[in-house]
This record gives sequence, structure tokens and C-alpha cells, in this order.
Amino acid sequence: MQGMMMQRPLLISDILTYASEAHPEAEIISARTEGDLHRQTYPQTSRRVAQLAHALTAMGVQLGDRIATLAWNGHRHYELYFAISGIGAICHTINPRLSAEQLIYIVNHAEDRVIFVDTTFVPILEAVQAQLPQDLTYVVMTDRAHMPANTLNALCYEELLEGHPEHFDWPEFPEDTAAGLCYTSGTTGNPKGALYSHRSTVLQALMVVLAQGSAFPDGAKVLPVVPLFHVNAWGLPYVAALAGLSLVMPGAHLDGPSLFTLMDAEKVYSAWGVPTVWMGLLAEIKAQGRTPEGFSDVLVGGSAAPRSMIETFENLGVNVGHAWGMTEMSPIGTHGSMPAYVRRMPFEKRVDMKAKQGRRVFGVEMKIVDDTGTRLPHDGKTAGELFVRGNTVISGYFRNPDASSGAMDAEGWFGTGDIATIDPTGFLSIQDRSKDLIKSGGEWISSIDLENAAMSHPAIANCAAIAMPHPKWDERPVLIAVAATADRPTLEELHAHMAEHFAKWQMPDDLIWIESLPLTATGKTSKLTLRQNFEGYQLP
Ligand code: ADP
Repeated sequence: MQGMMMQRPLLISDILTYASEAHPEAEIISARTEGDLHRQTYPQTSRRVAQLAHALTAMGVQLGDRIATLAWNGHRHYELYFAISGIGAICHTINPRLSAEQLIYIVNHAEDRVIFVDTTFVPILEAVQAQLPQDLTYVVMTDRAHMPANTLNALCYEELLEGHPEHFDWPEFPEDTAAGLCYTSGTTGNPKGALYSHRSTVLQALMVVLAQGSAFPDGAKVLPVVPLFHVNAWGLPYVAALAGLSLVMPGAHLDGPSLFTLMDAEKVYSAWGVPTVWMGLLAEIKAQGRTPEGFSDVLVGGSAAPRSMIETFENLGVNVGHAWGMTEMSPIGTHGSMPAYVRRMPFEKRVDMKAKQGRRVFGVEMKIVDDTGTRLPHDGKTAGELFVRGNTVISGYFRNPDASSGAMDAEGWFGTGDIATIDPTGFLSIQDRSKDLIKSGGEWISSIDLENAAMSHPAIANCAAIAMPHPKWDERPVLIAVAATADRPTLEELHAHMAEHFAKWQMPDDLIWIESLPLTATGKTSKLTLRQNFEGYQLP
């Protein structure tokens, strides 16, 4: 027997409509490329989004068209999110840190019709313009006074909005209509596109509100350092609108001192981003001898939050939430909000729990399997490849049947490429990306574990453990480190420091100091680049 309830499509346009009614005072505060700090409420945002939707319609944008963005976190980017998907087109966010080759591939592969671009990134597009579709329309996201001279024959964002009505009758369409497109950085081969739907986006937002957003005090301000160009800034634009949070958009300045100043001035409650960003902020916190006013919570994800970082934040009174996810998962899969019994644990034990990646959010199922696909126990010890299933996980890659079929197992679960353990209470612990694991003498060594142990040494600011080929053992670990102090430990001293946690054969064979670690387009340490840079390196 069927239930007798209405069936209404889950649409992104409803999120902003709701926010304007329910949270009229919450704001979007943006450090803009124009150099000012701009503020607008959700009702004001709704009116501008309506104008933008009219403008897009007048440009001939149709249901299913791909409309690209190449932009920092700011209110105009936020407006594009809602206007594009609201009219049934697809918001294709592009990472400006991609190589020219990847950018050209992505825009052509997606067949974008329009690109909205921040002034900063105009030169990037000018350089590759000849290799992009010739009928592409360019819009620079600024006002007339700040329009840069350009060869793109570009339109001006603020002029585009002018004169259009401040109300839009949002169309209704099936909830599985595509809404957003984000390509993974593609460390090997071409980038692959995850095509989100209205349904998956709304569900992801609700899932994250449940895990995190609803725990924040009324009207709290949240700062996404995680970019709007990377997996919808972990869903925060939608989460904030539902939960009534104000958003503080940092724009182009993501270094420690700039973030500190903005967070302090706006009394940001929570900030979200990858570990490398927090290293910059922590350095500034140390320099100033205080935390930004009101800073109470940090969400760390994208790569493993180092244990020493968690400890430092918690000692400063900043609650750490550790989340794990992937572009292919909208992205959040697990979240580190802690049950009461963990909150009651002594400090060290609590930090141990926070160094894990948390528990699955409602709606994401997880299994770990061995090489033959046989399920492994969730005993917190047995490690296997992590597979996921759920309404917010891709069912295939956009226009890429080969990659799509390779991504799923026989039961239709998506293979994450991560090696993990899951404990009986559901806590996930990512051991490594399978391609970053170090295989020595047939045994695995987790690069994340080595890095965690090494980074608890006060002289190490940041580090990465990578595998070097070895004639006898296949691979051996080497630690590549950035110094925090002039006084650098020797390899032997480092071994002594790590001895508590590792057997001798698991310790790095060498310690190499470098100025800074290379980053991926999404701001994570690029082990691929490190492996390339140290190819042919002779172990001692
Ligand atoms: P990119 O390859 O561009 O970084 P994603 O953001 O989709 O693309 O990266 C997803 C991967 O990042 C995961 O498969 C996992 O290896 C890693 N990751 C994400 N969050 C964490 C975390 N909290 N701890 C460890 N690894 C993480």
C-alpha cells in the first residue's frame, strides 16, 4: 500500500526562498575584489538572484545549459549558485588553480555557454580564449567602474542585473534535474565531472545541517575558506541558508593574517577548510598570542587533520570537527560531531577520536572490502578499500562512460580509492589513499600515521611521507618536512620521537627538508608532485 502524502520536488530555489522568510537578518558578508567589505541579507540576496535569473533568461539560457563560474568566495558567486540552478540550468564551478590544459578540457567537455569570471581571473581566460568555444559569453563579476580592460568582449555583471524585476517565479521541474557540475582535479588522466541534482543537493544540505549546522548558536557567522569552486564549498551555501547562519566570504585573501583580521572583525564563530589553510591561521594566532574574537569551531576536511593541529585548536578552546568526503559525494560522507560519551573522555582520548574522520552522515552507507570484494569486519582494526552508497553519491561521471563503469563495484557501490577501518560504533579512520600507501616488504605503512607522528615534533611545521622504490623491500618511506624552527632534528632524533608509535621497520629511511610542500589545485599537499620531484632519489 502506498502512503498518502504529497510528493513535492526538492528544489534548490526553495532553499533561498525559505532563508529570506525565516532568516531575514542573517547576512552574506563579502571581502570583494573591489577591496570593500560588502553586506547583504538573505532577502536582498533573493532580490538580486531574481534579477540575475531574469538576465540569464534574457540571454537565452535554457534548462540543462552549463553556465560556468571562475570566482572566489563572494556574494556574486553565491547569487550565481541560486540563479543558475533556479532556472534549471547547471552551475559549473571551475577551479582557477587548474592547469591551462585542464581548464580548456573542462570548458569544452562541459560545453559551457557562459562563463562568469572574477576580475582576478580574466587574464587566465584571455590566455586560453582561442582554445575555448568561440560562442562562449564572458561576464566579469564586478561593476562598470571596476571593469578591467580585456580581450574577452566581456559583459559587466552589475549592468546585467540592472533594470530586471526583483521577483522571479521559480519554475518547477523534476527533482532529479541536474543543478551543479564539479570536476575532480584529476591527478591522472582528464578531470572527471560529478553532476549533482537538485534532489542530491537539497538532501546533502539537510544531512549536513543535521550533522553540524543546527549545533551552531542562532545567527552564528561561518566562514568558508573551502572555495565555492570546489564541491559547493562542502554544501555550506545551502546549509547556511537553511540554518540561518551568516556567511563571511573571504574573497581572494586566504593567508593567515588576512583570515585572522577578517575573522576577528566579524567575530566568525566557525570556519571551514583544508588543513594547509589552518596551518597559516595557527601561525598567525601564535604570532598575535590570541585567537580571533568569537572563534569557537573549525571544520577540517579534504585531507587528514593532523593530530597535533587538533590538539592545538582544542587547547585554544576551538572545537574541531573532522569531516571526510569526496567530490563524488557532494561531498560530505562522515562528520566528527561527537557523541556524549566521547565528549566526557579525557583530553588525549578525545583528541584520538577527533583524529578519526567521524561517523557517516545519515543517508551515506559505507563498507570496507578486501582485494576480492569480500566485506571486512567493522572492528576498528581491519583495513580495506572503502565503498559508499547513497542519494548524494554519483551514479557515474558526466559524459564519461569508461570512468563511470570503472568506478562502481558489482553491487553498485562507488569505490572511493581510500583505505580505511570502521569501528563498531561507526567511526571511520582513513589510513591512506590507496595510491599513497607505502608498501614495504608486503606490509602496508600508512603515510597519514607517519605524518601525524612526525608533526607532533615541535620542529616540524608540515610534512609528507612518500614511498621511494627499494630493491629489497619494494618501497620504503621517506619523510619530506618543512621546518618550524632553526633547530632541526636528525633522522635518528626523529626516530626516537616516533618510537612510541612505530616499529623500527615502519620508520622513514630518510628525512628531507624543503622550504614548502607543493599543493594540489584544491589546496592539499600534492604527493604526486613530490613523487615526481624526488624521482630517482637515492636512499641512504
Ligand atoms: P581532490 O582529488 O581534488 O582533492 P576530492 O576533494 O574529491 O578531490 O578529494 C577526496 C579525497 O580526499 C578522499 O578520497 C580522501 O582521500 C581525501 N580526504 C578528504 N577528506 C579527508 C579526511 N578528513 N581525511 C583524510 N583524507 C581525506
